[in-house]
Amino acid sequence: MSFSPSNAGLSASMSALAGTIGNQRAGSFAQLGTTFLTRLPAAPLPAPHVVGFSAETAALLGFDSSIAQDPTFAEFFSGNTTRDWPAQALPYATVYSGHQFGVWAGQLGDGRALGLGEVEHDGTRLELQLKGGGRTPYSRMGDGRAVLRSSIREYLCSEAMHHLGIPTTRALCVIGSDQPVRREEVETAAVVTRVAPSFVRFGHFEHFYSNDRVDALRSLADHVIERFYPALKEADDPYLALLGEAVRSTADLMVEWQAVGFCHGVMNTDNMSILGLTIDYGPFGFMDAFDANYICNHSDNQGRYAYRMQPQIAYWNLFCLAQGLLPLFGGRYEESVRGERAVQDAQRVLEGFKERFAPALERRMREKLGLETAQPGDDQLANSLFEIMHANRADFTLTFRHLARLSKRDASGDAPVRDLFLDRAAFDTWAAGYRTRLAHETRDDASRAIAMNRVNPKFVLRNHLAETAIRKAKEKDFSEVERLAAVLRRPFDEQPENEAYAALPPDWASSLEVSCSS
Ligand code: AMP
Ligand code: MG
Repeated sequence: MSFSPSNAGLSASMSALAGTIGNQRAGSFAQLGTTFLTRLPAAPLPAPHVVGFSAETAALLGFDSSIAQDPTFAEFFSGNTTRDWPAQALPYATVYSGHQFGVWAGQLGDGRALGLGEVEHDGTRLELQLKGGGRTPYSRMGDGRAVLRSSIREYLCSEAMHHLGIPTTRALCVIGSDQPVRREEVETAAVVTRVAPSFVRFGHFEHFYSNDRVDALRSLADHVIERFYPALKEADDPYLALLGEAVRSTADLMVEWQAVGFCHGVMNTDNMSILGLTIDYGPFGFMDAFDANYICNHSDNQGRYAYRMQPQIAYWNLFCLAQGLLPLFGGRYEESVRGERAVQDAQRVLEGFKERFAPALERRMREKLGLETAQPGDDQLANSLFEIMHANRADFTLTFRHLARLSKRDASGDAPVRDLFLDRAAFDTWAAGYRTRLAHETRDDASRAIAMNRVNPKFVLRNHLAETAIRKAKEKDFSEVERLAAVLRRPFDEQPENEAYAALPPDWASSLEVSCSS
């Protein structure tokens, strides 16, 4: 597909960039056809301007970092030029279904996301999607828009998560506009360009299962296998093996989230990536004060998606995925026993979640505590730390970060972490146990600290940091968005010049509520 600058109103360099995005390549999601998606242009966005731009994500796509300065960049990534695209190459909204808050919700779909197509660069193919690009056939009661506030949060967090080493969709840019959008109050519209190898969700499979479209279900599974797990084609049961990959990648993702105190907020099955990526940033939050029952989404009255629930919910969601894939399982069995065997196989594969998650979390906790060897009781040591953190509402990020300063020998390095606990005696008791345990380690304090600082970030996207950047952006000052993004790209570095970004939240932050509306 190519765009002529005259009809699309793009500069020569933007036109060249647009020409690298294709949505008709063999093997691409878009090629699955009309059963899976509806093609339509984006809704016009008046006077679009660049709010944020990730040069890093641009580089992944082979885009030059200077492109954001192009006067037609915002025009293109607002979706405004898509009205000139030929019908067969228009952007597309995909159909999916899902379980929301544990209840079957029926058909959902991309209500405000439009796939532009994919870019192949350095041997990898990445899909681009405009989130907030306007109404689609799947918008239901929604307006198809996203607001500036939530778009900045998604942009900052997806880039931050990537640099924490956590699988996630990425963000190329945020494009803003003065177009009003009504939420709890009137805000303004924005479009985030998200980038990922695939945006396929558990809910895509559930959709075709619930509609009894086994042919479409198989095409979708074949697409994911072909693109991401081609080796599975040789497995006894490729579709069961695909479930196994989802179990593995989702379990690994839960380890990552739990280890940094990240709460997703809306772990509905339509917000779960088949590749185990963090996807759909809405009312997410990194915990400041540790509370195992922390709920970041104030619409989640039951606490279904509370911090401590996330791994269990992921497991529950995998059951939904397994059910969606069920008609594809058991191809190698005789017809008469196929159904029964397929269920048994699926149950066995799902069991793999626990086998993968628990030991991986234990390993990660040992790393976070700076323990090189595995000893009986390490589990208990980690759990009792979480218990006193919970009881004292100790800051999640700083507790682990400051722990690296503890000395093996004496309490000389305790103060920074100890001061996070109101109940100093409880901390001292725990620290004594920790020191006893450290005595069994050969590594010296300095090298232990270096290793710990590589797994315990100093900088995470605390709510109040995002809020500060958003408040300035609403005043048309986007400098804080980029400054914060730059800090979050080096979460494990000391960055003494950015100490303020690592500090405990200010008093005003405690009144911040993150709503589900985005
Ligand atoms: P979420 O839980 O935010 O991931 O969204 C659930 C469903 O609602 C998905 O199908 C979204 O595409 C859709 N949706 C969310 N917000 C909007 C909106 N403003 N306009 C249209 N659809 C939306
Ligand atoms: Mg969603």
